Order: sequence, then structure tokens, then C-alpha cells
Amino acid sequence: MIRVPILMYHSVTDRPNDETKPHAVRPSDLAEQLSYLSESGFTPLTLGDLVARFNKNNGLSLPAKPIVVTFDDGYADFHSHALPLLERHNFPATVFLTSGWVSDAGKDAAGRPLDDMLSWGQAREAAQTGIEIGGHSHSHPQLDQLRTEDLRQELRRNKGLLEEKIGTPVATMAYPYGYSSARVRREVRKAGYFAACAVSNTIAADRHDMLAIPRLTVGKNTTINMFKRAVEGNAVPLIYMRERILTKGYAVVRRTRYGLQRVRGNV
Ligand SMILES: [Zn+2]
Repeated sequence: MIRVPILMYHSVTDRPNDETKPHAVRPSDLAEQLSYLSESGFTPLTLGDLVARFNKNNGLSLPAKPIVVTFDDGYADFHSHALPLLERHNFPATVFLTSGWVSDAGKDAAGRPLDDMLSWGQAREAAQTGIEIGGHSHSHPQLDQLRTEDLRQELRRNKGLLEEKIGTPVATMAYPYGYSSARVRREVRKAGYFAACAVSNTIAADRHDMLAIPRLTVGKNTTINMFKRAVEGNAVPLIYMRERILTKGYAVVRRTRYGLQRVRGNV
């Protein structure tokens, strides 16, 4: 079994707002974490590249210590803070972009961005330096709670806009809030995605469903020692156990909620 840690970041800033604070990482912490990866012989890949290498039919092999670094939502600070640090190490990464939140989305604006977001030009510039731009829905809803028609719209509009504005095919995505269901994953596949990330705080392996790839959360309280234990993957780090149990329990609650809404005719 091949095991690959996939890291999930959000905003990278010393000045998060109340809404981005829970998941924001300080630039100095990201710098320390990336230096650790570099010094410890990790080879970062984009998610698309990893999934291609999981597919044994295409003859591509994996480096000795593969890892994937991902950033959700598309905050402007990815361009100002994260990108220079990634470039210093020559590390690729994947940014999951919510198309309706882009700062110059114009008539396509949708949903409510939590902070200053990337512009299309900044996303394109990142893509030109080896950053993979993946999908993250159009308006950042809880996908598992949407009617199927709205769900399809969210996925297709996001993929269509990213491909049009960035100019490269979009094959990967991450579920907003990590929420998915069998129905959501079916629609994601139909929309043309090959891989999608959730958040279950365990290390990804080639045995996992490629439409429910687990990631490890990195947040403001992740110390460098916790980070080392997580990426070295000797055991599921204790810090993640509580979150894993909560995530699993909540999935049951969410399925029940969607079922009840359907019975009542709301979905
Ligand atoms: Zn998100």
C-alpha cells in the first residue's frame, strides 16, 4: 500500500479575521513546515500528479517520500505569502478555488467570500509557476445538502469557469467543508473530475476511493512537532483522533438531515 500525506491549508496570514482565524496559518509557520519537508527529503506533487501516479497503468512512478500540499478557497494571501515560500523550495501545490469568490468574478460572483480572495490574473500566474488549480464549487455551499440539479450547476459552473479563465483542464476538486455523500461523488465523477479531497484527517493511500481522498488539517495550533508526526505518518497523530470521530459522527447526522428534507420536499 502506498501512503501519501495530503496537507490542507486555508489562509496564510498573521492577520486573519474572525471567520478565517480557525484555519489560518502564520507565514512563519508555513515557512518552517516547508523547510522541514525540504530537509527531510519529501517530494511534493500536485494532487493531479499524485492520482496519475496512483494509476499503475501509465508507467509513472512515485518519488521516495511523496507529499501533497493543498490550499482551499483561494485566499489572496496564497499569492502574497504562500507562493513565494513554495517557489523558494521549487514546490508545486494545489489550490482549490471557489470560482464565485474570485475578487474580479464580476457577473459570476456568488456566495460570500470570507476574506480578500485571489483574482483570475493571480490564479493564472500561480498556474504558470506549476500550481495546480482545482475545483472547490462555484459558491461554496454544503454540496450534500443541495438538490441534484443545483449540485450539478455548482460543479459544472466551477469547472467550466476555471478551465476558461486558467486555460488548463481541471481534473481534481475538494469538497467545501469536506462534506460529500455517495450522490455528491457520483455527480462529481459525471462532471468530469478524476479525484476529490475530503478532510478525514488520516493519511491518504492508493486503496482509498479517489473521490474521497483524506487530508490532514494544518491550522494555527499545529506545532512543528505535531506537523512532523503527521507527515512522517507513523501513526494517526493523536491530535486528529477527536476530529476524526467528530467528522464520522457528523456524516451520519448530515445524511439523516438530507433524508428528512427530502421527505419534506425541501430538496
Ligand atoms: Zn472551503
